[in-house]
Amino acid sequence: MIPYGKQSINQSDINAVIEVLQSDWLTQGPKVPAFEKAIADYCSVNHAVAVNSATSALHIACLALGVGKNDLVWTSPISFVASANCALYCGANIDFVDINLATGNMSVDSLSKKLADAEEKDNLPKVVIPVHLAGQSCDMKSINELSKRYGFKIIEDASHAIGAKYLDKPVGNCEFSDICVFSFHPVKIITSAEGGMAVTKDVNLAKQLKRLRSHGITADPTEMTEPSHGPWYYQQIELGFNYRMTDLQAALGLSQLNKLDEFVAKRNDLIIYYNNAFKDLPITQLQQEKECYSSYHLYIIRLTNIDKEHHKNVICQLRKQGIMSHLHYIPIHLQPYYKDLGFALGDFPNAERYYDEAMTIPLYPTMTNSDQLEVISNLVQYV
Ligand SMILES: *Cc1c(COP(=O)(O)O)cnc(C)c1O
Repeated sequence: MIPYGKQSINQSDINAVIEVLQSDWLTQGPKVPAFEKAIADYCSVNHAVAVNSATSALHIACLALGVGKNDLVWTSPISFVASANCALYCGANIDFVDINLATGNMSVDSLSKKLADAEEKDNLPKVVIPVHLAGQSCDMKSINELSKRYGFKIIEDASHAIGAKYLDKPVGNCEFSDICVFSFHPVKIITSAEGGMAVTKDVNLAKQLKRLRSHGITADPTEMTEPSHGPWYYQQIELGFNYRMTDLQAALGLSQLNKLDEFVAKRNDLIIYYNNAFKDLPITQLQQEKECYSSYHLYIIRLTNIDKEHHKNVICQLRKQGIMSHLHYIPIHLQPYYKDLGFALGDFPNAERYYDEAMTIPLYPTMTNSDQLEVISNLVQYV
């Protein structure tokens, strides 16, 4: 079986985890801040806060930016449901901005029109969450300009995009956003088993993210409402969660981070090979923008000029041959839970057309040439 993605674990990853198991700290020890510092350095950003998933990171990022009841959050319909659920966790309302069909990312044109319309109706979003689909950054410069004009905050959902670059700088430097979120789930670029990280330039946001991941508790006297009672003292000053990452996970993440650039380079090499093989077929790659270097979490193609049934059939036939092709993503607004909130077919036409055409085929750093040839020959046959 050839999966659509998988982790690459070597002996040094294993040793890093064993070392923690034999140490005094399984959680709340030194590996978590070490991983945070390494990610912050990698991204050229001041602060990084490790949590137990990107979903948790998105949730506390929304809270830290003040998202609450009656607020509005916008994201892309072509994403994993977590990009939208985070707003609902805060009691806020969610809406979507249609995608650019060529890149699969949030369309700046649609965003800009929707903002103008929302301003008239006095219904502007508090936060917009662009999602860097498959590892290619959204047009952050334009989204950032719109944020200044309309006064919203930005959380980048970079779950796919650690190791990617935008305008020659690392995704996660937060030049054009308030907070950026990464996922370390095993199918993503690097893994800590489960795990996520929120990065920010803003020291106060970082402090609040740290409190929210651990019950809303602080041990910092400057954040307390009265003098310390003694060395045991801490205060809960807001309502937080247990969203902590363990030291086992952080050690794995740290070890994986050493190989991040190598993984991304390998993914880019595999992509070139695929693209060459598909040149003369009715297969469209996600358009790559010149200001972006993608981390290629996924290899997504669109089968254009093919009807819905044939599209489905290609995915099923590949699966029958043990090639676990997939589809990222089902438009979030068409999930039953979201339909119950009032969304319907027809709301976001580009996202819906994308869903009828897109498929994900296998891509991971340890993929061999023969794996790749097998995928290619099968795809060529069924398309
Ligand atoms: C994987 C993913 C998430 C959630 O990541 P977890 O670490 O599994 O919580 C959120 N957004 C996107 C776009 C993802 O792909």
